[in-house]
This record gives sequence, C-alpha cells and structure tokens, in this order.
Amino acid sequence: MKKRPTFFIKTFGCQMNRDDSSEMGRLLRGLGLRPAESDADADLVHINTCCVRQKAEDKFFSFLGVQRIRKEKHGRPIIGVGGCIPEKEDLRAGRQFVDYVVGAKHPQVYMAELAALIQSEFPGLDVPESMGPEATASAYQTVIRGCTNFCAYCVVPYVRGPEISEDPFKMRDEIAAKVEAGAREITLLGQNVLAYGYDLKPRRTLLDVIELIHDLPQLRRIRFVTSHPAWVKEEFVAGIAGMEKVCEHFHVPFQSGDDDVLERMHRGYTAAEYMEMIDMIREYYPGAGITADAIVGFPGETRANFDNTLKLIDRVRVDNIYSFKYSPRPLSESRDHDDVPDAEKKKRLAELNELEDGISRGINESLIGTDVEVMIESRSNSGGGRYYGRTRTSKLTDLACTRELRAGDTVTVRVTGATPHGIQGEVAGA
Ligand code: SF4
Repeated sequence: MKKRPTFFIKTFGCQMNRDDSSEMGRLLRGLGLRPAESDADADLVHINTCCVRQKAEDKFFSFLGVQRIRKEKHGRPIIGVGGCIPEKEDLRAGRQFVDYVVGAKHPQVYMAELAALIQSEFPGLDVPESMGPEATASAYQTVIRGCTNFCAYCVVPYVRGPEISEDPFKMRDEIAAKVEAGAREITLLGQNVLAYGYDLKPRRTLLDVIELIHDLPQLRRIRFVTSHPAWVKEEFVAGIAGMEKVCEHFHVPFQSGDDDVLERMHRGYTAAEYMEMIDMIREYYPGAGITADAIVGFPGETRANFDNTLKLIDRVRVDNIYSFKYSPRPLSESRDHDDVPDAEKKKRLAELNELEDGISRGINESLIGTDVEVMIESRSNSGGGRYYGRTRTSKLTDLACTRELRAGDTVTVRVTGATPHGIQGEVAGA
C-alpha cells in the first residue's frame, strides 16, 4: 500500500489557535494525510502563528527558519502559515519557500485552496471517508471570533477583525459530535467570550449556548474563556450558578490596578469596578477559581501606578495571574510607545510574581485535607500510577491512583500537598 504523506502542525499563541489547529488537523486527515511525530518527519508543516506578543512572533520566525533550511536541503516540507501574522504582513514577500498562507480565518474557509495544493503535491492520494472530530476528553469550541474592544496595546482587533459569533445550533451539533467522539469537557472560546451573540439576529447570549449544550448526556463539564471584566454581568453569573456542568472558574484579566493606566489602555473599567465584579462572582461561587492577566510597564506606568496594581492583587487574591512585560505591538494604538526601561519592567514583573506566588500557595494550601473533583487529562510522565488532571476550579492536580484511569474520567481526590502552581493528592478510597 502506498505510504500516506504526513503533516505536523506547530501552534503558537492562545487556546483559540489551538482550536483552529485541531480543526486543521481534522481537515488534513480528511484530505488523506496522517499526523507525523515531529516536524522533522513531516511532508507538510502548518504553522499557526500569533502576534499578540513579541516573544511568540520571534519564536515563529525562528521555527520558520528551521523549516526553510530543511526544505533547502531535502525539498520538503510543504510550508503553510496561518493565524495572526499573515494578517498584518505579506509573509510570502521575499519568502518563496512558504507554499501557502491562510490568515486568521476559520480553517474551513481555506479548505478548497488547501485541497487543491495537496492534490497537486500528492497526486493519486486516496481520501478516507470519515472526517469525524478528534477524540479528546477536553475539547474546545470557538464561539466568537475577533474583538472590537481596541485595548491600546493589542493587535487582535486589527488582525482578527470585528466580533463574529457562530450560529448556536450549528455549534450545538459540532459539540454533540465532539462529545459523541469522546469529549467530556468543552471549553467555549472567544477573545471576549461574553460578547457572544450581540451581532446575531435574533440576539443571543453565551447563556443561550450553555443552555443548548448543558443537557448533552455524556458531557460533564463546560468552561468558557476569556471573560472581559467589563462584560461580566450579574445576570450571566446568576444564570450559570444553577447549571451543575458549568465549572466555577473565571478568567478575568485586570491588566493593571491603576485607574489612569486602565483608562489609557481603554479597558472600560476602574480598579474598584473590577474588585466589585470579583466580589459579585464570589457571592454566587464562594470557592470559585479566578485567574487573571496583568501587564507591567505599559507606557507611562509610574512606580505609583504599579503600586496600585500590587494593591489590587493583594485585595482580590485570585488563584493565578499570567503576567507579562509590555512590548509594543504593530498596528496597536501604543505601537510607538515603550518608555519603561526593560530592567524596571523585569523588576516589577518579579515583584508581582513574588506577591502572587505567596497568594496562590496560600489558596492551594488551604485545600489540603479537603476532597476535590478532578477530571483526568493524562498520565504523569513519572508513571507509577500518577496522573494529571484539573479541578472544576481549573487547578492543575498531580494525583496518585492504584487503579487504571483514562482521560475524561472524573475522580474524587483527597488533597495532600500544594505549590503555587497546583495541588497534589490521591484518589480517595482507591
Ligand atoms: S479585549 Fe482588549 S486585549 Fe482582549 S483581544 Fe480585545 S482588544 Fe485585545
């Protein structure tokens, strides 16, 4: 039998990119290719890019350079680039080694172009009949693309365009198929997921989508990310509070705790409003997992501004903060501004992380001796009856169990240890 050509997908950036990559993988399998173990074995390498941060962009160009060298030596792989970067610059200009560029559209949109390329590169390739969704215990569903918030530091509205919501009934069918194929947890994705449905007629909300999928019999958990703080309304939180499958985890990036900086970032809320919103979530979900993003060194951020961020962190005491040094992004409003010296940014970042590590450790240690529900994600690399999973509040859990577990199983875990980054435990009664 003729050997099937292989593909490898390299993903930079956010969960939405990972969702697009998994859809891309499904399409490539549908076109007759099979997945390769690594980029070095692949006949086709598809790179899903991200330009939200300079670091991800730098990593992409270095990965692209490696593929170029392989292609010059061996004539392969076919190189394709998708995601944000092709939306802001002509990637093929001066780079003939890039075979196709598809931008940040949904992979389905460029299916025809890709199919034509693959048929010309691999003539006579027979196409398998089934193109079913991937069988993973945790699956993603992009519900809304783009963003119209225009935060001053962000490139997303320029490269991803305005918000476009997917049809709720079409998504229900897609999610049902993912559940049928083995998914037990669905994460609903959007840059601003709570803006879902405002562009639809009739108007819909994220709550409508959650209601539509909540009864799928084999589905156990529903998550949603990212929630822009200005869009977290009590009506939504009260609405999901009665739905047992919706996990009590909110990812609500505050970015800064200083009102002047927040205003210059165009975030649309004050530090006090952010704190009130967190208090409101905790009224409905006293033990909710809350995570956030923060940026240090936004242009013009003084020491006093930064101290307000530390105060906010000390007040809201969230479970985890993903913190970043500001870097100017092309197209964004603040692209020409970067006046906080790098050494000062590093110092602020270290201070922020030290404060948050202490808070995270305290929260996680308070769970020792309690029982938590964990969904298994994978076997631990250390083997020996150890597994990784996540609590409903999204805490990474390293656990021991004497019986065999599979991804998607839910178990009750007695917590025995904690670090700032997760908890350890053992399956009760195993
Ligand atoms: S909400 Fe702001 S930071 Fe988030 S994607 Fe939209 S513009 Fe960017």
